[in-house]
Amino acid sequence: MNKISVIVPCYNEEESLPMFYEETARVLRGIKGAEYEFVFVDDGSSDSTLNIIKNLAREDEHVKYIVFSRNFGKEAGMYAGLFEASGDYCVIMDADLQHPPALLPHMYQAVNEEGFDCCGGLRMGREGDSKIRGLFSRAFYKISKSLTHMEMSDGHGDFRMMNRKVVNAILDMKEYNRYMKGLFSFVGFDTKWIEYESVERAAGKTKWSIKSLFSYAFEGILSFSTMPLKAAGLAGVLLFIGGMIFMIYNLVRSIWAADAVTDFDIIMFVVLMVSSMQMLFIYILGAYMSKDYLENKKRPIYIVKERG
Ligand code: UDP
Ligand code: MG
Repeated sequence: MNKISVIVPCYNEEESLPMFYEETARVLRGIKGAEYEFVFVDDGSSDSTLNIIKNLAREDEHVKYIVFSRNFGKEAGMYAGLFEASGDYCVIMDADLQHPPALLPHMYQAVNEEGFDCCGGLRMGREGDSKIRGLFSRAFYKISKSLTHMEMSDGHGDFRMMNRKVVNAILDMKEYNRYMKGLFSFVGFDTKWIEYESVERAAGKTKWSIKSLFSYAFEGILSFSTMPLKAAGLAGVLLFIGGMIFMIYNLVRSIWAADAVTDFDIIMFVVLMVSSMQMLFIYILGAYMSKDYLENKKRPIYIVKERG
């Protein structure tokens, strides 16, 4: 009999976790010919999330859990959950019911009967998100798609059921700076998409601030593209050509007309432009170097404090 592992990274989800468990367990019990397990990953919660998980584990033998020693982030939680999961198929779900459990039977059918390696939920609309977040998100995916040439979009999230081949391919990538959407796209495999309407969080608050979303977006681009590094070269060439044209223009002007060649404001403007470009690209270089620096330390992606 096949086994489905449901991986749930949880960070301060005391309000939505009981609802999530009830609803998801009910759907899983209804899937014919498959058993299931829950792998809850407590990502350093400071509320009663861990107590709730422990109670569920006491009452239900389908529930496994691991507890991180501190908050390592959702990426680490997903990796840990996939690593601990024993199922033939694994699905990653948010604890806030924004990933509808009702999709699970369809996903299972796609990977088990229709020959797909992976089946993902494709979110339509952005019901649970603010307008500004939706706007930035769409802009980010446009930019990152053109930079990385990888299939990523706003609606393609982490809610995917995958077979062992995909799970193992993801686990084989042990990089410290993780960006799951990029990793999914990188490993490839046949993926079916099932659309679902976005819904508000069942309870609690989102763990993402605008700042953390920006750094996550930047992480995504740095992890999968070296284009920003090359852009430094392009900007250099453009600045050089611009400088040459500017100089020639001034020379011609000083020959034909008697008006002044130098203008303090223009020079200041050019100096400011050039130095700001330099600062920007030094920053980008530094960002890549720091990624490499952390990668080379071969630090663990997560640290387990307890398991059950
Ligand atoms: N999460 C986590 N660690 C974190 C942040 C979030 O494990 O540091 C979990 C969270 O508990 C939830 C999922 O990741 O199950 C998605 O988080 P959230 O709903 O805050 O993100 P959003 O849906 O707003 O993108
Ligand atoms: Mg959510």
